[in-house]
Amino acid sequence: MRKSRIIASLSLAAVAALALTACNSGTPSDTGSDGGAAAETPWTVATDVSVPDSPTFERIQKADKVTIGVKEDQPGLGYLDTTTGKRSGFDIDIARWMAASLGYGEDKIDFKPIASANREQSIVNGDIDFYVGTYSITDKRKEQISFAGPYFITGQGLLVAKDNDKITGKDSLTADDVVCSATGSTSIQRIKDETPAKTKEYDTYSTCVQDLLQGQVDAVTTDEAILLGYAAQDPDHLKTVGDVFSEERYGIGLAKNDAALQAFFNNVLTDGHDVWQKIFDSNLGASGVKSTQPEVDAVG
Ligand code: GLU
Repeated sequence: MRKSRIIASLSLAAVAALALTACNSGTPSDTGSDGGAAAETPWTVATDVSVPDSPTFERIQKADKVTIGVKEDQPGLGYLDTTTGKRSGFDIDIARWMAASLGYGEDKIDFKPIASANREQSIVNGDIDFYVGTYSITDKRKEQISFAGPYFITGQGLLVAKDNDKITGKDSLTADDVVCSATGSTSIQRIKDETPAKTKEYDTYSTCVQDLLQGQVDAVTTDEAILLGYAAQDPDHLKTVGDVFSEERYGIGLAKNDAALQAFFNNVLTDGHDVWQKIFDSNLGASGVKSTQPEVDAVG
């Protein structure tokens, strides 16, 4: 059975409840004028860290802060509450954990929202130190950057209007359907390659969801973990349909020349199963469904 089934079987109600309670779950959610939340986190901020031969870590030390690329419109994964200024989600906590492992707490993290299409370039340019945001490890991306991880596995799915009985899965898509997704994502490419549907692209999935709610597109496609978060926000009008139709292995994007940082993060992930589990449980796991942390790939 595919691992993504685990996510697929999270009830929407459970995910909705999670989205609402994430701030009370003991995970850090403030962006840190008080530098706070450290006492509640399942990770600790390391001291006396060295990452020999890591150009990224050298840059971080010089700046005395870590700049992390993220998503901020994906509830449950990478989300910014614009009213409170709090960031939450599984990816955000993974990012906080990695920063802490380098010795940088909440008050020394600069989160930078970066759209799917701009991730590789931001890493290549050094605009960010690393990226944590539903970022699938692919051979094409590995030509430009490296990935630590994977730290999570999900699969591509479809989100449709609650009253849509016509679209029931990928194989039901026809040339009459308009499917929306993010530019530069594996999701949009797969729809173009493997279905007759028409496509519409935006920078963000949340814009696609707005279009879907307004009847401008017939479906939104991306990873099911992302779609479940949107469905949970508006269960009266949205639903996910069908089986997942890919395997998306989420990695931490970092500079290609930085095998030292890649190995460092892989070690943190491998040695931190209990931390990973707590991060999963507090962000995605309140339904009680078990999930296992994937093994990391070899460095290189
Ligand atoms: N995981 C897929 C990707 O990396 C889709 C989600 C996203 O765009 O972040 O392309």
